[in-house]
Amino acid sequence: MRMVDIIAKKRDGGELSTEEIRFLVTGYTEGSIPDYQMSAWAMAVLFRGMTARETGDLTLAMAGSGEQLDLSSLPGVKVDKHSTGGVGDKITLVVAPLVAAAGIPVAKMSGRGLGYSGGTIDKLESFTGYQVERSREQFLQQVRDIGVSVIGQSGNLTPADKKLYALRDVTATVEAVPLIASSIMSKKIAAGADAILLDVKVGKGAFMKSLEQAETLARAMVEIGSQVGRKTVAVISDMNQPLGFAVGNALEVKEAIATLAGKGPEDLTELALAIGSRMLVLGGLVSSVDEGREKLAEIMASGKAVDKLAEMVEAQGGVKDEVYSPEKLPQAQILHAILAKEDGYVNEIDAEAIGHASVVLGAGRQTKDMPIDLAVGIVLHKKRGDQVSAGEPLATIHANQETLLGSALEAMQDAFLIAQQPPAEQALIYKIVE
Ligand code: URA
Repeated sequence: MRMVDIIAKKRDGGELSTEEIRFLVTGYTEGSIPDYQMSAWAMAVLFRGMTARETGDLTLAMAGSGEQLDLSSLPGVKVDKHSTGGVGDKITLVVAPLVAAAGIPVAKMSGRGLGYSGGTIDKLESFTGYQVERSREQFLQQVRDIGVSVIGQSGNLTPADKKLYALRDVTATVEAVPLIASSIMSKKIAAGADAILLDVKVGKGAFMKSLEQAETLARAMVEIGSQVGRKTVAVISDMNQPLGFAVGNALEVKEAIATLAGKGPEDLTELALAIGSRMLVLGGLVSSVDEGREKLAEIMASGKAVDKLAEMVEAQGGVKDEVYSPEKLPQAQILHAILAKEDGYVNEIDAEAIGHASVVLGAGRQTKDMPIDLAVGIVLHKKRGDQVSAGEPLATIHANQETLLGSALEAMQDAFLIAQQPPAEQALIYKIVE
């Protein structure tokens, strides 16, 4: 088999065989296929696409390119969740302990922040001492003992995806839907999931800017799931404004704790219940989404969801007390309110601008491996549709350095659009693809 023939076949719109796909994934992972040939192939895929069968084969080949986690020693159906990334998206912090408190084991590997979208692992490090690196045995034992563990992506999982993703990033081929879909699904499969709940974000603060794009991606991933025997459901949700009010690591953790106690913002609570209840259905714990919602709402109200987070924090070396007294989490020194200049209604809150401002403050990385400031970020006081009077605070910036505060203010200059009329209703959840 020759890579040049495989490139030509895809360039001319042909369908690659399972063997050809395995050949290119193995060769690229091992280094016998060079970057320039893989780039040419990725560009051919961008223009020609892939069939569902080819995409399924690519996903399995990438999932099998490195270590795979065996979760079979854990009881029940292992349901994983994945978000395509957004601003203020702290859903995993809520859903992992919540679903675990309901009886579904959650063995989850999460990532760090990427660009202007935050990462669960950075957020969890807001708890003093919380360890994100655990051995396989510690990870599995914790899930057996308390039903939940959230750790960083470790080991040699999907090395083919790691290489291909970095290559796509610099060859203008990130946007190819079969490549995004197989990249995400291969990681979930290698992490041992039996069933997968995908939160596909759409809007200004998301990777997918239009509903059409988001739906195409959601369908491609659900199709892969059915091809490879993993039940997959995708929720397409709004990312035109940040989720909840808080953006920034410790600030988001505080909001997630309030939500676990049933006292969180409406949109965050609603999305957590929508996602969590579907995870309960996928796990076979309940027979309907409504039943799942009811169960999860009861768990929130009973305090058991907060207790489960505290158990997880303690089991991973963190200070449990910070869950019950969140004011002990990192706090910024400087609070600066952004005031409305006029009366009206909030028509838009630019999630991307807020995400950028939060990175500028130090909540995210501007260079690889740079340390982040867990305390800083932005807390909104108004959301889309809210009425506001001139002089009222729209948001508060939490900063630790005056110079960075200035840069964040600049980044947020046009983040709020105030108009005389209220905006048209916008859905939080656009579609469920299953
Ligand atoms: N997220 C991923 O993990 N892979 C992609 O290709 C795009 C987003």
